[in-house]
Amino acid sequence: MEKVKQIYEGKAKKVYSTEDPNLCIVSYKDDATAFNGLKKGTIAGKGVVNNRMTNMMMQLLEQRGVPTHFVEELSERETLVKRVSIVPLEVIVRNVSAGSFAKRYGVEEGIVFDEPTIEFSYKNDELGDPLLNTYHALALKLATKEEIELIKSYAFKVNEVLKEYFLALGVRLVDFKLEFGKTADGQIVLADEISPDTCRFWDAKTGEKLDKDRFRRDLGGVEDAYREIFKRVTQAH
Ligand code: UDP
Repeated sequence: MEKVKQIYEGKAKKVYSTEDPNLCIVSYKDDATAFNGLKKGTIAGKGVVNNRMTNMMMQLLEQRGVPTHFVEELSERETLVKRVSIVPLEVIVRNVSAGSFAKRYGVEEGIVFDEPTIEFSYKNDELGDPLLNTYHALALKLATKEEIELIKSYAFKVNEVLKEYFLALGVRLVDFKLEFGKTADGQIVLADEISPDTCRFWDAKTGEKLDKDRFRRDLGGVEDAYREIFKRVTQAH
């Protein structure tokens, strides 16, 4: 399958149409942004890590009953996916307090929750992705009640599968962000990416951060962190 025309360029990826109206090609860049685009940079090799890691996670999740947009890895940085319209909700699942949760509620990072939490943000850069609840999402007609229920159950399933998977690699899955899409025939599928850009990974023994927080917080060793998490994932494969 060949790229026909660029239809979208985001912060970390480009999306192209193909000859098949139901398929797109995603191309992963090394560009990194944080704080709603305020901080910009590049992370050498990130596009390759995020593409290949996302594809491995999508295939694992498909096997475990979560439908995804994944079709076929085309190259290091490019993947064929089902064309979807993205549900404008960012779905965040957390197992341990960190980031905006710790800040918003005035607690330290690293508190292990008895049960995972879920929250939604309205995917809208101009508004700064404001937090909303499912009633707000319904009022704004971002999705139907049934779709929101399905998204919630998929999100918790993703957490169960990935939490166990990463623990076996000596990694704590602290939190992550998911996006879902709707195919032409109305099916809700997991879309976007699952990578160190969208998950917090802490080494289970040392607590070392193996994700984009190294970039966000200027901790150094950004490329090494992406390489390390990728090494563990590929060795497990
Ligand atoms: N996240 C993301 N994109 C966003 C916001 C958050 O991928 O626009 C991910 C982030 O990497 C982390 C999780 O979602 O794994 C929770 O992020 P949080 O709400 O704590 O926000 P942050 O501290 O990253 O601003």
